[in-house]
Parts: sequence; C-alpha cells; structure tokens
Amino acid sequence: MFINGKWQGSTHHFAVHNPATGEKIAMVPDGGEMEIKQAINAAHTAFPGWAATTNHKRAQILYQAYELMLKHRRQLAELMTSEQGKPLRAAETEVNYGADFLLWFAEEAKRIYGETIPSSRKNQRFIVQYQPVGVVGAITPWNYPVSMITRKIAPALAAGCTVVLKPAEATPLCAVRLFELFEKAGVPSGVINLVTASNPEPVGKELCTNSQVRKLTFTGSTRVGRQLATLAAPQLKRVSMELGGHAPFIVFADANPEHAAKGATMVKFLNTGQACICPNRIFVHKGILLSFLDTFRQRISSMRVGNGKDKGVSIGPLVNRKALDKVNAQVEDAVSKGAALLCGGKRLEDRELANGFFYAPTLLSDITPDMLIYREETFGPVAAVIPFDDGDDVIAMANDTEYGLAAYVYTENLGRAMKTFEQLNFGMIGINDINPTSASAPFGGIKQSGLGREGARAGLMEYLDTKLAGIALP
Ligand code: NAP
Repeated sequence: MFINGKWQGSTHHFAVHNPATGEKIAMVPDGGEMEIKQAINAAHTAFPGWAATTNHKRAQILYQAYELMLKHRRQLAELMTSEQGKPLRAAETEVNYGADFLLWFAEEAKRIYGETIPSSRKNQRFIVQYQPVGVVGAITPWNYPVSMITRKIAPALAAGCTVVLKPAEATPLCAVRLFELFEKAGVPSGVINLVTASNPEPVGKELCTNSQVRKLTFTGSTRVGRQLATLAAPQLKRVSMELGGHAPFIVFADANPEHAAKGATMVKFLNTGQACICPNRIFVHKGILLSFLDTFRQRISSMRVGNGKDKGVSIGPLVNRKALDKVNAQVEDAVSKGAALLCGGKRLEDRELANGFFYAPTLLSDITPDMLIYREETFGPVAAVIPFDDGDDVIAMANDTEYGLAAYVYTENLGRAMKTFEQLNFGMIGINDINPTSASAPFGGIKQSGLGREGARAGLMEYLDTKLAGIALP
C-alpha cells in the first residue's frame, strides 16, 4: 500500500492468481478500516498544498508520468497479462490507452479557464472560477486494471484534487506498479494513496461516509454502484458512476454484412467479452442474416484461445470460476429455450487450459426476450444474435433495457444513421464504428449505466466545483 508517500505492508496479506494457470503470482497487503482512514487523512492533509500548485506544475508531473508509463509499457503489459489474463498485445493497447489519459489531462490542466458573464445590472460583474472538489475516493474494477485507474487519477490530479484508490482484489499489481511510476514522476506525498484490500466493504463504506472525502468515483457493477451511491447520499457527496452495460448492435438491411460481422467480432470478444461496452444483443436484419452469420461464425471459430502470453492468442481466460459459471448458465438457458448454438458453447479444459477459466468463443442465434442473456450482462465470450424484420421496431427493442452505456449501428444510409443515433437511449453510439472511445471523448452511460463522464473536458469537470463572484462596482 502507498500511504502519505510511503510504501507500507500489513499483518495480513491476500494472494493474486494468474487466471490462465491458476498459479499464485504474488501476496499483497490486505488493508482495512485503519489503512483507509490513514490514507484519507493523508489525502486531506495534502489537499491544500496540491490545490495551490500551479496548473502548469501539475501538468508537468502528469507529462512525466505519461513518459514513464510509455517507457515501462511492455513491463506493465506483461504484469497485466499475468494477473488479468488478456493477450499481451491487448494489454499493450490498454497501457497506451491508459497513458493517453495522462497526456490529455496534462494538457487540459492548463486550460481550466474561468468565465466572465454579462450581468443585467450595469454596475455588476460576474466571474466564474473552477476549483478542485477536494479528496477523491476511487474504486476500480479488474477488467481494465490500468486505464480505469488513469482515467480517474489523471483528471483528479489535473484539477488539483488528492486521491485515495482501492483497486480490484483480482488486479492490485498493476495499481502498485502504476503508483511506483507516479511516485517517480514526482507526485508529492499524500496526493495519491493506494489501499489494497480483499474485503471491499469496510474500505468502500469509509470512502462513502468519511466527511473528509468530497467525491466518490466508481467503476464497476450497477449493483455495487447503487449501494455506494446510497451510502454517499446522506453527505451529498459528488459521485461519478461508470457501471454495467447491455449494448445493442444493430445491423440494418443496407449494411455490409461482412464488414458488420468483422466489427461485431472485434468488439464482442474484446477482453474475452469482459468489457462494459461489449455488445450483448446483436440485432441483424433477416435480409442479410445468413451472410452475416456465416462471416461471424468463421471469424469466431478461428480465434485462438489460450494463455495471453502465447503468440497468436486472441482470447484469454475469464477472470474467475464465478464468471465461467455465469456464462455457462446463460448459454444453457438460451439453448434450452430454443436458441441455435452455431459454435462454441462449452468450457475449454484440455491440457494447458486445464487450470484456467477458459470458455470457447460462442455464437448463439434466435435469441428471444425470455432468455437470461437478453437482459443480463454476459461479461464473457458469447455473441447473441436476434434476427429482426421490416415490421419490427428494432430501436424500441434495442432501448428495452435498464442499461444505457454503449450501442452500435451498422447502416450505409446517412439519414437512418442519424435518426438511430438520436433515438437510441445510450451514452455512446458507434456508427459503423466499434471503438467510440478515446481520452478526448466523453465516456459514460445513462439510466442504470451510471452518472457522469470520464475522459474529455467533461471528465475534468467531474473534479471541479463552480464558484461565482458577483461584484458590485461603485
Ligand atoms: P464490482 O464487483 O462492482 O467491483 C468493482 C470494484 O468495486 C472492485 O474494486 C470491487 O472490489 C469493489 N467493490 C465490490 N463490492 C464493494 C463494496 N460493497 N464496497 C466497495 N467496493 C466494492 O464489478 P467488477 O465485477 O469488478 O467489474 C465488472 C463490472 O464493471 C461490469 O458490470 C462492467 O460493466 C463494469 N464496468 C464498467 C465500466 C464503465 O466505464 N462503465 C468499465 C469497466 C467495467 P473487489 O475486487 O475486492 O470485489
């Protein structure tokens, strides 16, 4: 753990395992109430000094951290592959994406401009300034163990906030390594603090209820996000919630089915299907269904499953046994209710896969609303196709979910693309595009997918309070 600029251990530790092999790869200090209180105190003490540094100084430190992250890209990627499981190339891509937030917010730190607003009174002037919110509590998930951290820490530091981070239990090693780099980059003592823990509850409760913490930023499941927002509500803490998704992927009759199937493969199987923006319901017009499914099945069947450190592997393991069981239950439920299983559909446990949590990339078609997969987030390598026809209101079908994070549309018709973009109730919509994400674009959802945005200017505003001066002139 890293508290007030010092690395510290604990009397208790928890193990980190490689999900591809089951091997124990490290023991990590197990923090609790005492450590989280120490960390919050340190962040609280460091806050006035950090908030008073110039924006240029904060930018300089973020630039330095960016350079260091790129310099250690390979090492960070290897660590990520061993504790999280994603293929090495995907891990390197994530390190680049994570580093981009440091660069973007290093630049934005210098552009926290105020405003002057004309008044209706002749002798009055309005001036608006933005100031840092204060101490930020941050909780991150295991699926993107580097970028989910920098996406929070970079804007918080740019704004002048101090931070206490609790990373996921499954992936604390990437957080530790990142903090070593932040320390090397010159982040002053107490400005960022790291508490690793096997039991998230007491740590989360303290971050939500300690009055020294002024903002909570959380990425994870909707279930936990709701609990934390409820805990934080009595103090009216600011909250950002990046939660679950159930993305529709609509392929209209005028789309190129091969191109759409290629896109669907890339985004559905991203991180073995363990990304909040992975499509969960793939709506395909019946007029092009056969050619779409043909290409989709060929692409899915040719993906190599294995240990992410091996060359040519594009599908790594699921994170744990529970994730494997959930995927299996959704597939069994769908097949028992009439879905067509076109490939995959089982756990892979031959030879070197035996001790990992591997599931065959799977394609299901003829999915109907009574199946679990139609409503539950899958978080695994299973593509669920729902054929539709001219008479069906596919937009209403796509909007029929409590979630509202990402959605995708494939069409060659500009008017239809625009209309669909406007009618879909989701925060991010890819139009003939499977990656509507970047450090410079606002990431986030509506409905049960969350509150607030990360990345872009919007991501910085989450860490700033608006302050108005009304000045009467003589
Ligand atoms: P999770 O179970 O909600 O856990 C996320 C984080 O919250 C982890 O650090 C976890 O700690 C912690 N946590 C769990 N219970 C807690 C509690 N009672 N109090 C305080 N903290 C608690 O979610 P996950 O399974 O790790 O992540 C997958 C979910 O994240 C999916 O639903 C996915 O869609 C969502 N996600 C959303 C985005 C987005 O930007 N919208 C991005 C990535 C992922 P432990 O690890 O110790 O349990």
